[in-house]
Amino acid sequence: MKPVKELPDGLRERLGGTDYLLCRSCHRAFTRDDVIVDDDTFAKAVRFAPGSPDLGRLAEAVSMRARCPYESCRVPLDADDWPFVRSRHPDYPEAPVEGEVYDAASAPAESAGTADCGA
Ligand SMILES: [Zn+2]
Repeated sequence: MKPVKELPDGLRERLGGTDYLLCRSCHRAFTRDDVIVDDDTFAKAVRFAPGSPDLGRLAEAVSMRARCPYESCRVPLDADDWPFVRSRHPDYPEAPVEGEVYDAASAPAESAGTADCGA
């Protein structure tokens, strides 16, 4: 398994980046740079990237093999952008702590049933 940030230039820019994602499976955050692909996919990407007439398509093929970087997770990448998560959980920090579990799936603002009815 290798991180996207180690891909050749051109692919790295298309796939990597420092913005955060939150895995929908393990609810932990990581940057696009840290997303991993299997060694075989990585090796092919390195081999075909130089002189590839269509890096966009190659990047797309690689992204289809992308996985969650956490060793105990490793599911095919299914993640939300951190800003999207924060839009539903304004209490979350601007930059997530890596390794921390943010259970964004839990219903946001489940207004606790204690609405103030003014009585
Ligand atoms: Zn995960």
